[in-house]
Amino acid sequence: MAIRKIITPPNPLLKKPSLLVEEVDGRIRALVNDMFETMYDAPGIGLAAVQVGEPLSVIVMDTAKEDEEPRPRALINPRIVWAAEEEREYEEGCLSVPDIYDKVVRPARVKVRYLDLDGQPREEEFADMDATCVQHEIDHTKGILFIDYLGRLKRERYLKKVIKKAKQAQEA
Ligand SMILES: [Zn+2]
Repeated sequence: MAIRKIITPPNPLLKKPSLLVEEVDGRIRALVNDMFETMYDAPGIGLAAVQVGEPLSVIVMDTAKEDEEPRPRALINPRIVWAAEEEREYEEGCLSVPDIYDKVVRPARVKVRYLDLDGQPREEEFADMDATCVQHEIDHTKGILFIDYLGRLKRERYLKKVIKKAKQAQEA
């Protein structure tokens, strides 16, 4: 296992839709292990493969609180097949979008179809924090960042700042 580097803007991969996984093999399971290690190290509650530079439709998440047993989950080729009308607002952040948190409104419950680590198709309902997290991660597989839901001015101001910071880090 290895901790991978998490990419940030302006890396163009973050805006690209990920490819579907054709076969859940050892390579995918190794990637998932790396993603868990990277997510727990960060620390974060969710991570998509594209965030470690692998544009494949793979996400991991664990929304357990610090005093709870870990609940690691890996979803291959996840897609939302149903969403509740009821909404939930949460102040989101993202390991690939550092130094900004903002409120995003999403459906409070969703049903997701995906493959598990044995390649078996599954369907599962996610609610509350799990619903927010799984939707945020599935967005990554479509090239969508949570800041895409914020106003254009806010987003552009943020991106300018981040890109300037990245450039300064490179020059230093
Ligand atoms: Zn994210």
